[in-house]
Amino acid sequence: MDQLIEGYRRFRRSGWPERRATYEALSEHGQRPQAVVVACVDSRVDPAVIFDTTPGQLLTIRNVANLVPPYAPDAAYHGTSAALEFAVRVLEIPHLVVLGHGQCGGVQALLRGAPPNAGDFVANWMSIAEPARKLAMQCDAPEERERRCELEVVRVSLANLRGFPWIAEREQAGLLTLHGAWFAIRTGVLTLLDAEGQFVDA
Ligand SMILES: [Zn+2]
Repeated sequence: MDQLIEGYRRFRRSGWPERRATYEALSEHGQRPQAVVVACVDSRVDPAVIFDTTPGQLLTIRNVANLVPPYAPDAAYHGTSAALEFAVRVLEIPHLVVLGHGQCGGVQALLRGAPPNAGDFVANWMSIAEPARKLAMQCDAPEERERRCELEVVRVSLANLRGFPWIAEREQAGLLTLHGAWFAIRTGVLTLLDAEGQFVDA
């Protein structure tokens, strides 16, 4: 915690004076982010760092393995879906990015089984990506299997997004564009899902 407080004090010394006008404007006029990103909780994959954004530009939804669950408006607690509803229907953000990444612990749990002490929630959450696991199992080499699964998870999330009626409607009306991306931690390289369904360097 000491490190965090030290960081906060650095922010007040240098970050705040630099960005004071931005924060004041955001406070006065409210936020109007132009993109929402669904990213993993992994501490190495920070969308604000990768896309070099400032406060107010990017609405970030983070969960284990950047998964979008199927559309299910029932009484369960749907954190990711609630955030999507706020971003898409309330803020009317025009771009939605699903950001996968390399060495994803969630994907590793999906392929090799969740650690025994992550059985309350992680295993069930990762079952959203079962179609991705099935496709990845066609790869022989473990490393290739993991990469394939990380990419397929992005495709699963995009498919599930299109199952949300208000996302599909907005996409068809040209008001919302969906994007898939995958980030390599070791090299810092971002790949984007192109119109042909392939991941290519951004
Ligand atoms: Zn991850």
